[in-house]
Amino acid sequence: MLRAAPIERFPALPEAFVSTPSRIFDAYHRKEASVNSKETDQPKQTSPVVTRFAPSPTGFLHIGGARTAMFNWLFARHHGGKALLRIEDTDKARSTQEAIDAIIHGLDWLGLDWDDEPIFQSERAARHAEVAHELLASGNAYKCFATSEELAAMREKQKAEKKPMRYDGRWRDRDPSEAPEGAPYAIRLKTERAGKTTIDDAVQGEVSVQNSEIDDFIMLRSDGTPTYMLAVVVDDHDMGVTHLIRGDDHLNNAFRQLAMIRAMGWEEPVYAHIPLIHGNDGAKLSKRHGALGVEAYRDMGILPDAMFNYLLRLGWGHGDDEIISRAQAVEWFDISGVGKSPSRFDTKKLQNLNGHYMREAADDILVDLSVPWIEKNLDAPLTPSDRQLLRQAMPVLKSRAKNIILLADSSLFLFKKRPLDLDERAASLLGPEARTMLHSIHGALNDLEDWTLETTEETLKAIAESAELGLGKLAQPMRAALTGSTSSPGIFDVLILLGKEESLDRLADQI
Ligand code: GLU
Repeated sequence: MLRAAPIERFPALPEAFVSTPSRIFDAYHRKEASVNSKETDQPKQTSPVVTRFAPSPTGFLHIGGARTAMFNWLFARHHGGKALLRIEDTDKARSTQEAIDAIIHGLDWLGLDWDDEPIFQSERAARHAEVAHELLASGNAYKCFATSEELAAMREKQKAEKKPMRYDGRWRDRDPSEAPEGAPYAIRLKTERAGKTTIDDAVQGEVSVQNSEIDDFIMLRSDGTPTYMLAVVVDDHDMGVTHLIRGDDHLNNAFRQLAMIRAMGWEEPVYAHIPLIHGNDGAKLSKRHGALGVEAYRDMGILPDAMFNYLLRLGWGHGDDEIISRAQAVEWFDISGVGKSPSRFDTKKLQNLNGHYMREAADDILVDLSVPWIEKNLDAPLTPSDRQLLRQAMPVLKSRAKNIILLADSSLFLFKKRPLDLDERAASLLGPEARTMLHSIHGALNDLEDWTLETTEETLKAIAESAELGLGKLAQPMRAALTGSTSSPGIFDVLILLGKEESLDRLADQI
């Protein structure tokens, strides 16, 4: 059985993540608790479904990885099965704790939870070796004593003869007694030579490869370490994985993996190789297209639900539905909805979707998410009454903001100290004429007993009418004086949020 990884391997949230502490996301995802909770799931089928997400921790959780994780999670949740996480950290030179943390936190941010403790592949090397030796004992594998120089020469020769470069099976039928005494050996799988192997992939359909193209690959290196190919097969089997949903860059590996599975007589999983994500120009997705780690999107002010919805629609569809909640996604997700052609990553679409989720998000959550940005900008902590004001302003602010950063920016006017520093465009609106107008506005507003949306609006309308000006002509210099900028929520909302005293003082500062 698999050993659970020690939980101490997940240290507290690193400093880099403090802008949006995870407790905020705990709250954020709480409303989805019934989706994430296994107990409340209604299993759709009785056979247990087990999926896994198996990232190699060599970098951040990129968009493609996040989508693979989501599809595995959704498929398992849809079927009331298990979604497992396996960290493929066998490449010690390239795996880092930092990358493990980034992946774990990225998944957490997206609201993807996993059943059981994560498995660390590197801790299972002994089990991987055991299986290689089992295959050796059953005659499905053999010892190869070829030295690396010998193999290099073999490849050189194949290259010169323009033949495919693959192991030529030189130790396949040779007696190990011919090997030099005590020489190290690799264990290779004795693959089928004749015929072909066909995989009925749930996304790609039937894909076949001639067995002659699959050479006797190494499972256990001469230093006793397992290869990636062996480790994946053994772990998937031991974890009871029934469905392998992963990028189609792994389709080639599937044939080698299947050869081992068949040699062991293990049950074959269902393969679902999903097309990769491309950039808007159709080229393979790269940083140039905005293909960053998911944490970069969080730091751009994207909400987890928006990212979830966006990634879901990137390669999977349910009719023409664009806005799909987590609960609906769990209800609807199936492999048959995954498209066969690569999808295109479109930052603009993500931003638009984010605007939708911003408008839908609970005010308290948006307060929690925007406070760190506001405090960073003001370089000072918000007081409890500032927070209250922010909460009060949220319905107005969130209707206009496309992301958390813009939301935070749009709230700054509430907390600025008098006299306000006007930005250049705001200052240019406050010529002598405008200041005279502000003077009469100040007088009229000062006389108001009731400070409401209606009374302030009535007052300003009356002034505009008597001056034969449009309301906009009044609102512009007022906005400049009240907020220090030329863009803000509606002017009456601004007046109400600031209150009578602060509004009048800010107007007076500019007269
Ligand atoms: N560790 C592999 C990767 O990050 C995935 C292996 C698999 O899904 O089989 O690309």
